[in-house]
Amino acid sequence: MNLLKDKICIVTGGGRGIGKATAKKFIEEGGVVIIADFDASTGTATADDLGEQCTFIKTDVSNSDSVKSLIKRVKADCGSINVIVNNAGILKDQTLEKMEEDQFDKVIQVNMRGVYLCTKYAAEVMREQGSGVILNASSVVARFGNFGQTNYVAAKAGLEGMTKVWARELGKHGIRVNAVAPGFIQTDMTAGMPEKIITMMGDKVPLKRWGQPEDVANLYCFLATDEASYISGAVLHIDGGVVV
Ligand code: NAP
Repeated sequence: MNLLKDKICIVTGGGRGIGKATAKKFIEEGGVVIIADFDASTGTATADDLGEQCTFIKTDVSNSDSVKSLIKRVKADCGSINVIVNNAGILKDQTLEKMEEDQFDKVIQVNMRGVYLCTKYAAEVMREQGSGVILNASSVVARFGNFGQTNYVAAKAGLEGMTKVWARELGKHGIRVNAVAPGFIQTDMTAGMPEKIITMMGDKVPLKRWGQPEDVANLYCFLATDEASYISGAVLHIDGGVVV
């Protein structure tokens, strides 16, 4: 199918994991994908791997100049921005008593401020066009909390709030804004966990398996297309039925 034919799609953190799977899925649907990632070697390798419909632009989503330059370049090279997936994210887990202020600030800067910056500048282009789709990467922990994740949960819960604000503010410009909240998805982000915990967490999922990046990519893809043209301001959970 060609549900995203010639649509210009930015995927932040698209060098690996869920972002890479999303870039691949968008390309399969005819989209033109710009991977905006921090790591140049991973980003370039992924863009090469995904072929001529994909390019890489080195970007730090938490840095205003870097984001402005990304948006300016995509607008100049491609003429429009139809979809942005604010997928880039980091973890710096620690219990409250041990969490240093810089660990808190860094996760807020990338996972929440990064989403604010990318949306702010991409939405300028989308407003001019009178259309666009903004998709934000939340997590089930925004709803349930999680041990050792004060910073991450704060950022994801904040991002869900911003999603609802932006759906209200941008709807009249033909822009849809939604968040996707994955449960346990097997990526590099979760690969460092002890085997025992990985098995235990998988057992807690009613569907009895961890999710794959492709599961989340399929949902992003649906939300990016006109098939989802009346969905805005939503937080869609994709978690195999898990209750944390
Ligand atoms: P991942 O494998 O760690 O990939 C994240 C990507 O974001 C990496 O390529 C990383 O680049 C990039 N990134 C980090 N900081 C950045 C910055 N400042 N600017 C631009 N790019 C940056 O993560 P994932 O598991 O695919 O997760 C993707 C998103 O889904 C995240 O927002 C995460 O919070 C969310 N999520 C994941 C799960 C899960 O179970 N995996 C569950 C719920 C939600 P580097 O290579 O330089 O680090």
